[in-house]
Amino acid sequence: MTVPLPQAFVHRMQALLPPEEAQAFLRALRGRPYVGLRVNTLKIAVEDFLRLAPWPLTPVPWCPEGFVLEDPAARPGTHPYHAAGLFYIQDPTAMAPAALLDPQPGEWVLDLAAAPGGKTTHLAARMQDRGLLVANDVQPRRLRELNHNLDRWAATQVLVTQALPGRLARAWGAIFHRVLVDAPCSGEGMFRKDPQARRTWSPNLVARCARMQTGILKAAARLVRPGGFLLYSTCTFAVEENEGVLARFLEEHPDFTLVPLPEHPGFDHGHPEWLRPSGPEALRHAVRLWPHRVPGEGHFLALLRREPGVVEAPSPGRLPEAPARARRLYQAFVEATLTRDPAAGRRLYLQGNRLYALPQDLPPTTGISIARWGLPLGQVKKDRFEPEHALALTLRRGDAQRVLDFPPEDPRLRRFFAGEGWPDPGPEGWVLITVQGYGLGWARRVQGRIKPRIPAWLHRWSGT
Ligand code: SAM
Repeated sequence: MTVPLPQAFVHRMQALLPPEEAQAFLRALRGRPYVGLRVNTLKIAVEDFLRLAPWPLTPVPWCPEGFVLEDPAARPGTHPYHAAGLFYIQDPTAMAPAALLDPQPGEWVLDLAAAPGGKTTHLAARMQDRGLLVANDVQPRRLRELNHNLDRWAATQVLVTQALPGRLARAWGAIFHRVLVDAPCSGEGMFRKDPQARRTWSPNLVARCARMQTGILKAAARLVRPGGFLLYSTCTFAVEENEGVLARFLEEHPDFTLVPLPEHPGFDHGHPEWLRPSGPEALRHAVRLWPHRVPGEGHFLALLRREPGVVEAPSPGRLPEAPARARRLYQAFVEATLTRDPAAGRRLYLQGNRLYALPQDLPPTTGISIARWGLPLGQVKKDRFEPEHALALTLRRGDAQRVLDFPPEDPRLRRFFAGEGWPDPGPEGWVLITVQGYGLGWARRVQGRIKPRIPAWLHRWSGT
């Protein structure tokens, strides 16, 4: 670790933890970070993934679809299965929030600080892609990454918004069964893997983040239905955030109570006694995941329930159906290229020249900036339809008329990700490229040659 842990941080933690525990904690922070991955259960069953995966994997106790990679030299982010969206690389402790919020298929769920999508993809999989998942963030650059991750994930019921939480609360009110606030925080849980987190940390940052979290949670509370759940999580250890923010929230929101969470070996509880004056005993229902006790970088989480009451049905969002010409061009593409229509039964919506299959449920969207309307299908050009990368990632080998399927080690996949073509005689048109049957992207076959049609960001992601 070339950038040392901030001295003020070391002293604070030594003042909170018993000496032996402080030593173990600080030693863990100076060690090697864990790498975890979470299987995309929308695409593949965990047992099937374990048969395919080329790395030794150890289960994460609190997340049946999560695993720790044992080999520190493994680079799962460069594997074609990553580009095919079979898994998400995630710190094991970051798998706890969505697992413990436990969203159900068919519910309306909001991920209020969602980018780059670690928890969004987890929520979508747990919801079995049924119901409505709204993923919100405020930073455009991070929203782009969220969109790329959703492209790989093949979640079709996700609306991505770019709004301040107060704006959403004013527009929608209490419509969500579950809301996740994975709050912007001082990031002490990033110290082991990110030198920048060690550089930018200061007691001032902790105070600023605590204030910001209080504001976000206040808005989040207004979005939770009576009887619904709110999960607050951070990747920091600071008590002014975590217990401090929760104590204040409980004081200002008597209609919310903390819910006890399932226990796992190594889980610690919240520490009301670390606050001055001491906080309410209920804070013990929060969970602290420490890097010296469990595999992972560290997280804090607490589940709150809003007291039951009258639930008002939200008014459904209404959007104009895509114009007939756009629908016709899409249909012609489906007939010429696919064997089934992934948008069957969905309302199609055209924004600019981009055609989407809308989520089955939709809240009112007037006045809210939307960065993704469900499943992006493709772009409607003057006289043709060009499919989106995201569409290919929802498809399997049997779903397209022209398919080139490869094992992960085939050198043509490397060419594909590099955007380089190769000779391949056969019928002309759109070709679905798959790895072990899972959609990876589009290519065009023109005059006996395959020409990859992948977005620029994929070159970076696939490590080519
Ligand atoms: N949940 C994400 C995941 O699992 O990949 C990580 C979220 S990160 C800890 C916090 C996010 O909060 C950042 O993406 C940041 O842009 C966003 N953020 C910052 N201020 C915000 C605000 N006022 N409202 C909503 N999100 C905010």
